[in-house]
Amino acid sequence: MKNIRLITILLICLLSWGLSAAARVEIQGARLSSQNEMARLVLDTSGPVVEHNIFSLDSPDRLVIDLAGVSLSGPLRQPDPTNPLLTSIRSGERPGESARIVLDLKRKVRVKSFCLQPDGRHGYRLVVDLTPKPEQEVRQEALAEASRGLSGHPSVQQRSVKLKARDVVIAIDAGHGGKDPGAVGPRGTREKDVTLAIARVLARLVDKEPGMRAAMIRDSDRFVILRERIRIARKHRADLFVSIHADAFRDRSVRGSSVFTLSERGASSEAAKWLAARENEVDLLAGIDLGKSNEEVAGVLMNMTQNMTMEHSMLAAKPVLDELGHLGKMHQSRIQSAGFAVLKAPDIPSMLVETAFISNPEEEKRLRDPAFQNQVAKAILVGIKRYFEANPPPQTLFAMRNDRGASSIRHVIERGDTLLDIARDYQVSLPSLRSLNQLESDRIRVGQVLRIPES
Ligand SMILES: [Zn+2]
Repeated sequence: MKNIRLITILLICLLSWGLSAAARVEIQGARLSSQNEMARLVLDTSGPVVEHNIFSLDSPDRLVIDLAGVSLSGPLRQPDPTNPLLTSIRSGERPGESARIVLDLKRKVRVKSFCLQPDGRHGYRLVVDLTPKPEQEVRQEALAEASRGLSGHPSVQQRSVKLKARDVVIAIDAGHGGKDPGAVGPRGTREKDVTLAIARVLARLVDKEPGMRAAMIRDSDRFVILRERIRIARKHRADLFVSIHADAFRDRSVRGSSVFTLSERGASSEAAKWLAARENEVDLLAGIDLGKSNEEVAGVLMNMTQNMTMEHSMLAAKPVLDELGHLGKMHQSRIQSAGFAVLKAPDIPSMLVETAFISNPEEEKRLRDPAFQNQVAKAILVGIKRYFEANPPPQTLFAMRNDRGASSIRHVIERGDTLLDIARDYQVSLPSLRSLNQLESDRIRVGQVLRIPES
C-alpha cells in the first residue's frame, strides 16, 4: 500500500483572488537551479496561479504539485544528473481542470513555495524551494506513520485549501439585563434598556456590512453572568467583543463617553476603579465568588495569548474612541483600563464602551433618543471597521481587500517558523517584514499569513 502524506498545502497568490479558478493559466516552462544541497524549481506561468497543493509520496520519494486551473504547454525540462535532490520531472493534466507535476526525488525533502508577480525580466512565477529533510525528522515521521498504521487510522490524509472568506464576528454585549438593571438615571431610565437598544442598532449595522457578522450576547431583557457572556462570545468564535454600557457616577455633572480595555493590574483612573467594582458586582448577584475565578483568570493573563489579545484590544479601542470623539465631548480622551471581568476573555480582543453617563440628566435624555443611539452605534461600527482594515484576520474579506494591489507573496506560518527564518528565507529585511505586516512584536502564530515585501 502506498503511503500518501500531505506535507504542505501552501500559499495561494492572494492577489489573484477574484479570478475564477477556471481562468486559463498555462505553464510555459520550468527552470531548475541548485545550490549546495538546495534545489529550486521555477514554473513560468502565463498568469497568476490561484491555487496549488503540494504533497509528498514515498517509496519511492516523490513530490506532487497540483495546480488548479492550469494547463501545460509541453513537456518540462529534465533536471541535470548532478541535481542534489531531483532525478526527474513528470507532468500531466486533466484538461480544463488542473495540471500535476511530479518531482522524483533522491531523498525526502522540505518544501516551501511562493508566487511571484511579473517584474519586467520574468512573468508570473511559482517558485518551489526544496531542501533536504533532516534525518531525525525523517525517522520521527516514519515512527509516527507506523503508529498510525497500527492504531488503524487511515494512512491517507488529503485536505484541500480553498480560500473562502469567512465573516469577522463581532460579539455585541448589551450590559446588564434581567434582575440587574444596571445604573438608573434621574428620570428612571434603566441602563439595561438603553444598552440593549444600542446593541441592537449596532448589530443591525454590523450585519449590513459585507464580511462582518454580529453575535448578540443577549437579545432580550435577561440576566447573564459575566463569564457566561465571554462563553457565548467564544462559542460564536468572535473576533472582537464589545460591551456596551451607560453608567452612573456619583457626580451628576460627569458626562461623555469612554472606552475601556482590560488592565493587567490596577485601573487607570479613579472612575475606572469605581466602575469596575460596580460592574463586577453583578456576578455576586448570581451567588458566584468572583475572587476565585479571578485567580484562574490571573493565570491565563500571564500567557502570550493574553498579551496579544490585550495589544489588539488597545488597537481596536483606539479608533472606536476616536470615532466617539467626533460625536461630542469625551469623558476621557484616552483609552481607560480597568479590571472589568467581562473583558477577560483570554483570546478575544475586548473593549467596554461607556456610551454616556445615565446619571447626567442631559445624557440620560440623549440615551433614550433613537437618533443618539444610532449615532453611537454608527461611531462604534466605523471604529471597529477601521481596526479590522488595519488588522485583518486571515481569510476574511478584510484580508482579501487588503491584499489587492499589494505584494503577491504570502507565507503561511508553519510550526517552528520564526520571523527571522522567514526574513532569511525570502531574503528580505526583518524591519520591512515587520512593517508590511504591522507587527508590533516578533510573535507569530501557526496559520498566520504574512505578506512578504518585494525584495
Ligand atoms: Zn454598566
